[in-house]
Amino acid sequence: MKRITCPKCEHEFNFDESRYSHVTSISFACPACRKHFSLTLDEIEEMNREEIDAPYGYIVVLENQFGYRQTFALKQGDNVIGRHSPGSVVDISIQSGDMSMDRRHCIINVKPTGNGIRYTLRDNPSLTGTFLRHEILNDRERANISNEDVVTIGATTFIVYLPTEEEDDYLIE
Ligand SMILES: [Zn+2]
Repeated sequence: MKRITCPKCEHEFNFDESRYSHVTSISFACPACRKHFSLTLDEIEEMNREEIDAPYGYIVVLENQFGYRQTFALKQGDNVIGRHSPGSVVDISIQSGDMSMDRRHCIINVKPTGNGIRYTLRDNPSLTGTFLRHEILNDRERANISNEDVVTIGATTFIVYLPTEEEDDYLIE
């Protein structure tokens, strides 16, 4: 299922693209304003790529033997990250069988400042530690993180994707 946004009124509606894999262009009639328009499958893909609402960036947990690939948006303030477990409340709950990942393993803090956004990573603390760019964080260390940094918690790795500087300017606005 994909999201389609009407180019005239920006109304959004769902579309099952799986039945149209053999066509190059699909015609739509907006359910809200009735405007007719057509999109290629590539354009629909592009429309859905932009769908992720993550003004403060996001993390991508890489697939491994314990879990599948997962994406989570970051929010302002503390983002507590850990292994999903019933009854455990964290901001980023990773579905994984990786028992070396604590249920509350590490924290990414997102803090807007006068000239951008500061991103820091700290261990919660966890049993196995938190590794930034393959180096373990010290107790109480708050390490600055930047775009495409690699973080390892237990046997699980995630990549941090942060807004580019242009988007930073936009956010401060
Ligand atoms: Zn419309």
